[in-house]
Amino acid sequence: MTERQPLRCDVLVIGGGAAGVAAAAELALAGLSVELAEQRDALGGAYHRQPAGRPTAVHARGRRQWSRLVDAFARAGIAPRLRHVFLGLDSDGLAMLDDRAEGRVLVVRPRALVIAVGAIERVLPRPGWQLPGVMTAGGLQMILKEGGSPPPGDILIAGNGPLTIALAADLARLGHPPVALIEAGDPFARPAAALRLAAYPGLVAEAAGHLARVFASPTPWLRGERLTAIEPRNGRLAATIRDRRGATRTLAADLIALHDGIRPNDFGLPANEESDIVVVRAGDCREALGIRAAIADGRHAARQVIALLTQGPSIADDDAVLRQRRAQAVLGDLFRPIDGADPLAALPDETILCRCEGRTFSELRAMLAEGELSPREIRLNGRFGMGLCQGRFCADNVLHLIAAARPGDPAEPPMRLARDRWPARPVSIAALAADDDEQRES
Ligand SMILES: Cc1cc2nc3c(=O)[nH]c(=O)nc-3n(C[C@H](O)[C@H](O)[C@H](O)COP(=O)(O)OP(=O)(O)OC[C@H]3O[C@@H](n4cnc5c(N)ncnc54)[C@H](O)[C@@H]3O)c2cc1C
Repeated sequence: MTERQPLRCDVLVIGGGAAGVAAAAELALAGLSVELAEQRDALGGAYHRQPAGRPTAVHARGRRQWSRLVDAFARAGIAPRLRHVFLGLDSDGLAMLDDRAEGRVLVVRPRALVIAVGAIERVLPRPGWQLPGVMTAGGLQMILKEGGSPPPGDILIAGNGPLTIALAADLARLGHPPVALIEAGDPFARPAAALRLAAYPGLVAEAAGHLARVFASPTPWLRGERLTAIEPRNGRLAATIRDRRGATRTLAADLIALHDGIRPNDFGLPANEESDIVVVRAGDCREALGIRAAIADGRHAARQVIALLTQGPSIADDDAVLRQRRAQAVLGDLFRPIDGADPLAALPDETILCRCEGRTFSELRAMLAEGELSPREIRLNGRFGMGLCQGRFCADNVLHLIAAARPGDPAEPPMRLARDRWPARPVSIAALAADDDEQRES
């Protein structure tokens, strides 16, 4: 392997979603040299995922907003590095990008790093959630956005929060309404929160549009209900649904989409205080506040970076972000689950907690019974959070169960299960060792 000459730039932006694109455009238009790395083969992120073919009805949403963002990005003259996966930042301030198109690792030395890698979906474990045919609602939304058509068969959506309504409306728009939409909360039973939502007319208009589409479809919106288990039956999936009085019934479907909220994707990310260079997080990976906040937060991150690099005055919090934080708090209240119970409290023993490694609740319970194993020991010995997703799906749930089993434990320092060191993603040895003659110093 030859001596690596890093690519130099003022700012490296990670993530080509709304926040990253907004940040990169603002930085470049202010005269800084900017590189943007996006792991996928197109910009867009979670909300503005671009269609692989002709745009369909689901792409009408937000199209103008995205055009404005990419116009500014194009004016700024940035050539995005697509299929470049951010692996991490080393202690010398060198950022590693896995260039999946070329099969090599690109080393970048920026003066500042903006991390805008978005959110991840929260899905609560239930018996059967690992079965083929069960996916996340966000995953199904991406299929609709990229492919433009829904998968065949009956689709059941279950979980908590407004995203499931948006998905049901998109399916109805495409002529394939779900067989049912199961919601743990009941916004109709929270009139005070509904009144407070009126302060956010943009959100109200969006929600009204989705709800009108769902109510015009045959899909029942079953509020205050939970999907508690899934099992294979006669080549399909049988979902057990529990209503607010505790009565259960079964619904059959071919595909089940689960969703229990979103949370920042902060796995393996460098913290500012651990680094020699300026590191700023932007958008959903800093705080999951939705698309309106992500754009404002991207621009705010750019202004922060400029201030830090030029030792200018510090930047005040962004009003649009603060407003969306309040709006998300109202939405949280509106969709607060009706039963108020801890959904993980009554998990059957054989429920899979870690889908990558097939680790179960009873295996975790046995480890907890052994005594005072730390979360790190539970991770290493029990392989919770050690699979391909590195805990992105199971870490929160496992930590919640550990905390529930040890009610007296101090909350500080916050328990961590996932690994914080780079590489944030698996990388091949071949890519790490690839000849890097092409790497240049600019
Ligand atoms: C599943 C899902 C569904 C959502 N649906 C809605 C909705 O209906 N309405 C709404 O208002 N909001 C929704 N949100 C939230 C909304 O998507 C976000 O607020 C908005 O997209 C956030 O923009 P962002 O740029 O912060 O992140 P994103 O749009 O998620 O962009 C992050 C980008 O970073 C890239 N990336 C991640 N890791 C790496 C890496 N290691 N290296 C390189 N690139 C990387 C990703 O590929 C992605 O393109 C949803 C979020 C999720 C996760």
